[in-house]
Amino acid sequence: QVTICWFRRDLRLTDNAALYYALKNHKNVLPIFIFDTNILDKLSDKKDARVQFIYDTITNIQQQLKATKSSLHVLYTTPQKAFNELLHTYQIDAVYTNHDYEKYGIERDAAINNLLKQHNIPFHTYKDQVIFEKDEVVKDEGKPYTVFTPYSKKWKATLTSYQFKPYPNEKYFSNFLKINPIDVPTLHDMGFEKSTINYPPTEVADTLIKHYQIQRDFPAVAGTSHLGIHLRFGTISIRQLAAHAQSLSETFLNELIWRDFYHMITWHFPYINEGKAFKPAYDKIQWSNNMNDFEKWCAGQTGYPIVDAGMRELNSTGFMHNRVRMITASFLCKHLLIDWRLGEAYFASKLLDFDFAANNGGWQWAAGSGCDAAPYFRIFNPYLQTKKFDADLKYIRKWVPEFEGFNYVPPIVEHTFARDRCLATYKAALGNT
Ligand code: FAD
Repeated sequence: QVTICWFRRDLRLTDNAALYYALKNHKNVLPIFIFDTNILDKLSDKKDARVQFIYDTITNIQQQLKATKSSLHVLYTTPQKAFNELLHTYQIDAVYTNHDYEKYGIERDAAINNLLKQHNIPFHTYKDQVIFEKDEVVKDEGKPYTVFTPYSKKWKATLTSYQFKPYPNEKYFSNFLKINPIDVPTLHDMGFEKSTINYPPTEVADTLIKHYQIQRDFPAVAGTSHLGIHLRFGTISIRQLAAHAQSLSETFLNELIWRDFYHMITWHFPYINEGKAFKPAYDKIQWSNNMNDFEKWCAGQTGYPIVDAGMRELNSTGFMHNRVRMITASFLCKHLLIDWRLGEAYFASKLLDFDFAANNGGWQWAAGSGCDAAPYFRIFNPYLQTKKFDADLKYIRKWVPEFEGFNYVPPIVEHTFARDRCLATYKAALGNT
């Protein structure tokens, strides 16, 4: 009899809810990971750094398990086929996994649950990647919050030390199935190649978190944690990070609450997973969708230095500073009148920390169509943003060194013209709302 623990975006052996309960309740626990071809087949970049990151993490977990004389079973196929294969290979008594809040994940898990039911195998699932999920933090009358500030107040009021308590997985490590290491398919086997992008470390200095509030808005300063990728794939525990943040910086903790907020929104409003605006009226906007302009924006060739700096940072590192994400996103939707979904997809293809909930939330915020978005008539002025947040042009000079010379491209659109065009187009779709 074997108990399966299915890793997805919780790639660690410590402080992991599903793994904890599997190990605590069973003797022969076999962790598995599925390189899901439904997802991988959609990636056009065969050097995708996220695939490499998962691969490196998986091989690291395999090494750790080897030390306990056990193994990870890695499959490269669809989840449905993977479970059919596992059912064939092992006598499975239960399957454990952590919750997913996106539409694809929810549907995938429902299908696997159905398959397991046919074999009378229970499917146990847990909250792991957020502090509060689903309807754990809702308004008094039970409805979900759609505005961040009251949500964050309730989040803090609901919090007890219990939510930050780590799961002591180590206590039960002897309950892993004893088995010789099972070969992990290579990147090459899966049609991928090594990426050259470097990943940020899993640790962040206390001083950075302490100074977060005053430094986080300046892209030239190394003032944010760069932990996004680790939160995305679960290579760090949100409980541990949030507990640590709470003692050092309320502002930093607030950002982690934004993360919970957007996951809660995705779960409560699944239509946003289908490309729909959170506020339906915004789907009436007549976007210009000039593909020439879009390509220039992607390449960092708009002639707006702060926008170009951000896009070039993204293209070469897989990261973009939050302030600049807001500026580049606003510029695409409002200055170029290009549908936010195109920008959302471009970010999704490039960001190491890509996360559907946060990315969609950020894009709909910029377009004005999201929950708790700024009113649409508030349009970022890229020049003023530069003055405020990159006054000495350090960030711009790093990424757009030619910007003070003759060979820098002229602005793709004039600011005041773009502003007026945007206001007129939004107004035509929305009236005076
Ligand atoms: P820090 O500032 O150090 O914050 C710590 C962590 O808090 C982040 O790693 C992240 O997990 C969380 N966090 C911070 N800000 C937010 C936020 N506004 N919403 C949700 N979580 C937040 N974040 C993603 O994790 N994935 C995305 O795909 C993503 N796309 C975005 C797209 C747009 C258009 C915008 C405006 C924002 C987006 N964000 C996204 C939010 C934010 O920009 C990043 O989380 C942050 O820049 C990551 O850098 P960091 O790890 O240094 O963050």
